[in-house]
Amino acid sequence: MQNHLSPGPKFVCDDHLGKLARYLRVGGFDAAFDREMTNSRLLQIALDEERWILTRDRRLIERTLVRNLFFITHDHWPDQLNAVLTHFGLEFRKDRMFSRCLEDNGTIEPAPKEAIEFRVFPFTYQHHDDFYICPICRRVYWSGTHVEATIRRLERFGIMVS
Ligand SMILES: [Zn+2]
Repeated sequence: MQNHLSPGPKFVCDDHLGKLARYLRVGGFDAAFDREMTNSRLLQIALDEERWILTRDRRLIERTLVRNLFFITHDHWPDQLNAVLTHFGLEFRKDRMFSRCLEDNGTIEPAPKEAIEFRVFPFTYQHHDDFYICPICRRVYWSGTHVEATIRRLERFGIMVS
């Protein structure tokens, strides 16, 4: 788990694509998502923040003149993720993974161990040394067995991690 800013395209996912947004964040990619987001708000964010719209909504494509839009045809997140990675020429790299908050897309920052002592369970505190915190929601993250498990899950779905 490291704290690199992700280069490359930024995304905003429509309200059908929460899982895709989450897994893009796992890879360290900048993926805005809000379940409550309307299509007009989606378009506004895409314009204001120069994001690529990822959408399953065909009407959005017909209605809008926005060009920075990628239509997602697949139903399941692994296929959706593979389509996005292929289309934009991106790859999952261990040194960029887990650098974003999965809940709100914030870029997590290293946190001194003492600072989070009472924010995690004592077992977690005792068995780990590298902790990170999200500057937006203050959620605490650490490298643990879930990291390896996530990588294995991705690889099982055909998403290679280098
Ligand atoms: Zn957060």
